[in-house]
Amino acid sequence: CGIVGYTGQKQAYPIIVKGLKRLEYRGYDSAGVAILDSDHLKLYKKKGKVADLEEAIGTKNVQGTTGIGHTRWATHGEPSDRNAHPHISRSGTIAMIHNGIIENYAQLKGELLKKGYTFSSDTDTEVLLNFIDEIKTQNNCTLEEAVRIALKRVTGAYVILLIETANPDTIIAARKGSPLVIGVGKNEHFLGSDASPMLEYTKEVVYINDYELAIVKPDQLILKNLGNEIITPYVQKLDIELAAIE
Ligand code: GLU
Repeated sequence: CGIVGYTGQKQAYPIIVKGLKRLEYRGYDSAGVAILDSDHLKLYKKKGKVADLEEAIGTKNVQGTTGIGHTRWATHGEPSDRNAHPHISRSGTIAMIHNGIIENYAQLKGELLKKGYTFSSDTDTEVLLNFIDEIKTQNNCTLEEAVRIALKRVTGAYVILLIETANPDTIIAARKGSPLVIGVGKNEHFLGSDASPMLEYTKEVVYINDYELAIVKPDQLILKNLGNEIITPYVQKLDIELAAIE
């Protein structure tokens, strides 16, 4: 299970696929990517290896400079194309990936079913995504605010990355109990479960702590806690060489 994200000036898809391969050692049963090409959201996901995903995508147009990628280790719902991440919100405008487990998903799902939500997977992840979507709709707030409000009600472990068509160059990220590293480049940012997906692009990284939320744009990294207070990112310089991991 692993997560990768990119927002910057380069094509996101090749960086994300390469990054997912670097994270293969963590184990997984499915893989998927969501890429934003302006306000056009492209989604590809597949049971099997990252190579199977690449084969399924083939020569399809995966242009776009912001994207997220996932390898799944199924905990809720069998390994299948429909349970693979990313998942898409009811509105079709938000894509989310998640590593970890949402422990109170059954309760949240019950609430959402009463409100008329339907689900196209068996995952706890899609429940959290629709919960965020519902909060965003009810409060008419930004995605960042909706994520923050939602996470206060969530128990379990997670690292989540979200993108939305309304903000095509922004990735919202948060974690509790699952790892998240953000690589700081020049007019670009990289996200990963560890630093291996970003090593050839930057050595400057920020390790995100539990209960922190990041708003990541090509030229800006804002860190907050769930109380909406700004945290100054602590940028560390890695002294790992790429050769050491290949
Ligand atoms: N609980 C989620 C699922 O079953 C995420 C699993 C993971 O960590 O990859 O889809």
